[in-house]
Amino acid sequence: MGYKPRKPVDPRVLLVEVLRTERVSPNVIRVTVGAEGFTPQGYDQWFRLFLPRQGQDHLRLPTRTSSLWYAQYLATPKAQRPWVRTYTARAVRPETGELDIDFVVHMEPDGTSGPAATFARTARPGARVGVLDQGVAYHPRHPHAWTLLVTDETGMPAVAGICASLPDDAQGVAIVEIPAEADRQDFRVPAGVDLRWVVRGPDEHVPGRAALAALRAADLPATPVYAFLAGESSLATGARRHLVEDRKVPRQHVDFIGYWRHGHAQP
Ligand SMILES: Cc1cc2nc3c(=O)[nH]c(=O)nc-3n(C[C@H](O)[C@H](O)[C@H](O)COP(=O)(O)OP(=O)(O)OC[C@H]3O[C@@H](n4cnc5c(N)ncnc54)[C@H](O)[C@@H]3O)c2cc1C
Repeated sequence: MGYKPRKPVDPRVLLVEVLRTERVSPNVIRVTVGAEGFTPQGYDQWFRLFLPRQGQDHLRLPTRTSSLWYAQYLATPKAQRPWVRTYTARAVRPETGELDIDFVVHMEPDGTSGPAATFARTARPGARVGVLDQGVAYHPRHPHAWTLLVTDETGMPAVAGICASLPDDAQGVAIVEIPAEADRQDFRVPAGVDLRWVVRGPDEHVPGRAALAALRAADLPATPVYAFLAGESSLATGARRHLVEDRKVPRQHVDFIGYWRHGHAQP
């Protein structure tokens, strides 16, 4: 991909319709929405997703582009603001105008779930959502011999997208923690990338801990790496700390993104 960032091609909020939903595995629901106006760039391309609050039949979407949308959003009376959450393009098919979004369906002990997980469970064809492309976060900035990807189930779409976009001769290791064996997904992985699934134990309630333990135990090449670490916030920060402090990886060779925080709703 070279060493240039991939910014969104057309950073407007798109109003799109839900086309269908499918439970692809015990903990993942795939929601397919219209993709008209969305320019695919591969890798972990991510976007803001605007979802109606209960009782809202009219989605009030920001009209401003780039980062200005947020000021406009905050200026909207709270009761009229849509929910905003962050998701990854699992697949984009411009030929049919479709964008797949894989939602991890997490449930609270009292049977409730966050707005995005609830949307995935209840969305019907024809429901409208807003999509604001944010570009690609995977961004190596230096020559490297191999790639390291570490994530929990929320980063499975990102790992699938990155693996699909890497060149055939890419070398690397990908550690992906999932709640259940049945949540494993098939996707194209370059022959030189070692994809290691880590299935969380039934007594482990905090996602990310098993992936972090697998990273700490891994025998990894000593050649220059680009590391992309994402998922539950303690996984992303813990993995970075381990690489920088214990394995002496230069910090500028590591990108880490807390996708969500255990016990905290997305602000
Ligand atoms: C760049 C980026 C890309 C992302 N891509 C994806 C993606 O493709 N698929 C995906 O599923 N998620 C993805 N996420 C994570 C997703 O945005 C969060 O999980 C989000 O908080 C879900 O919103 P919600 O409304 O369901 O729950 P919230 O209202 O945000 O949270 C409600 C409660 O649920 C908990 N919670 C949130 N997410 C999880 C989870 N996954 N497992 C267990 N508990 C959880 C919170 O800690 C909180 O206690 C991505 C995040 C980022 C920043």
